[in-house]
Amino acid sequence: MDKMEKFFTTRKRFPAFSLCIHIERRNSAVHSHMSLSGKTVLVTGAAGYIGSHTCLQLLKEECKVIAYDNLDNSSFESLERVKRLSGGNGNLMTSIEGDILDGEKLDEVFEANEIFAVIHFAGLKAVGESVSKPLRYYENNINGTVVLLKSMVKAKCKSIIFSSSATVYGEPKTVPCTEEFETSALNPYGKTKLFIEHILTDQHASDNEWNCLILRYFNPVGAHPSGEIGEDPKGIPNNLMPFVQQVAVGRRPELSVFGTDYDTKDGTGRRDYIHVVDLADGHVAALKKIAKENGKCGRIVVNLGTGKSTSVLELVGAFEKAAGKKIPMKMVARRPGDAAEVYAKTDLAYEILGWRAEKTIEECCVDQWNWASKNPYGYSGKED
Ligand code: NAD
Ligand code: UDP
Repeated sequence: MDKMEKFFTTRKRFPAFSLCIHIERRNSAVHSHMSLSGKTVLVTGAAGYIGSHTCLQLLKEECKVIAYDNLDNSSFESLERVKRLSGGNGNLMTSIEGDILDGEKLDEVFEANEIFAVIHFAGLKAVGESVSKPLRYYENNINGTVVLLKSMVKAKCKSIIFSSSATVYGEPKTVPCTEEFETSALNPYGKTKLFIEHILTDQHASDNEWNCLILRYFNPVGAHPSGEIGEDPKGIPNNLMPFVQQVAVGRRPELSVFGTDYDTKDGTGRRDYIHVVDLADGHVAALKKIAKENGKCGRIVVNLGTGKSTSVLELVGAFEKAAGKKIPMKMVARRPGDAAEVYAKTDLAYEILGWRAEKTIEECCVDQWNWASKNPYGYSGKED
C-alpha cells in the first residue's frame, strides 16, 4: 500500500481521523497566517449591501481596497462608515465612481494598480424588475461582466470571485442543495447569474491560469453588529427580512406572508438565512484560498449558506423577540415560483475554503434590528 492509499484507508476506517483532517484544513485556511496584507483587491459593487460589509472585512485584513461602484443602488456614505469602522485602516481604501460597462475607466484602474484579484459584486438584483426590464439586466449584468473580464485579460489579472446565487438551483427537487445539482433559471435575473457562471467556466477553460471562484449565496440578512452599515433597499423590498424591518420601523403597515399551505412544519416557506458578516468572511476565505494556492485554484463553485432552514413564521418570531414588538401579518396566497424549502449543503465550502457560517438566526435579527432602529430610513435618512 502506498502512502496515499494508506491515508485514505485510515480515513475510511477511522471517521474521527477524517474530522481531524477537516479541523486541520479549516485551521490551515481560516486561522492560518496566510496574510492578505498589502494585496490590492478591486471590489465592484463595493458600496452595496454585501460589498460594503466585505470591504470592511478586507480592510481588517489590511488589504488595499479599490471600491468601484456606479452608485445605481447605493451611495458612498456606506463606505465612509466602513472607513470609520475599520480601526484606522480606512486610508487603505479608495472609492471610485464608475460603471463596469466603462471599459476605458476599468483599464485605467488596472493600469494604475497592481490588482491581485477582483471581487465582483456589481449587478442588478431585483427579480421582479428583471422580468419587466430584461434587457437592462442582460446589458448591465452580462455585458458588464464581459467588459470587466476583458480589462482583466488586458491587465493579466486572472483571479475573480463572483457573486452567484442559490437562484441557479431553480426549484430544487430535494434539499439540501449541493453544488452538483442541475442548474436552471426562472427569471432574467437568475439567467444572468447562470450565464455569467458559464462565461467564467469558459474563460477558465480557455486559460487554466485563471482562478474563478463562483460563490452561490443563499439568503443574506443581518447587518454589521455596530448598526452603522446594513441593507438599504430602494422602493418596496422584495425580500422577507428588509420587508419585516420596514414594518418594524413603521414604514409599511403589515407583512404579507406568501403561502401558509406548503408542505413544511408550519406551512410557510423555509430558506437558508446567512448573516452578511459571515458571508463577507466567506469572501476573505476565498481570497486566502487564491493567495494560498498561489493562483492555481482553477474554477471552483461553492455554496455559501448555513445548512439550516428557517420558516417565515420562525424568522418573524425571532425578529419580534429582537425588536421587542409585534409584526402585523396578513396571510396571502403563495408567490408564484417560490419553492417550499431551499437550503445549502455546506460541506464543500468548509472543505475547500475552511469557512463556515457561525451566526444564528437570532443574531441576524438582533443585528438587523440594531441597524434598522438606528437607521430607519437607511443611509439617506428619508423616504425614497
Ligand atoms: P446591492 O444592490 O446592494 O449592491 C450591488 C452594487 O452594485 C450596488 O452598489 C450598485 O450600485 C452596483 N452596481 C450595479 N450595477 C453596476 C454597474 N454597472 N457598475 C458599477 N456598479 C454597479 O446588492 P447586494 O445585495 O450587495 O448584492 C451584491 C451581489 O450579490 C449582486 O451581484 C447580487 O446579484 C448578488 N446576490 C445578492 C443576494 C442578496 O439577496 N442580496 C443573493 C444572491 C446573490
Ligand atoms: N416572503 C413572504 N413575504 C414577503 C417576502 C417573502 O412571505 O414579503 C417569503 C417567501 O415566500 C419565501 C421567504 O419569505 O418563502 C423568503 O423570500 P425572499 O424573497 O426573501 O427570498 P427567496 O424566496 O428569493 O429565497
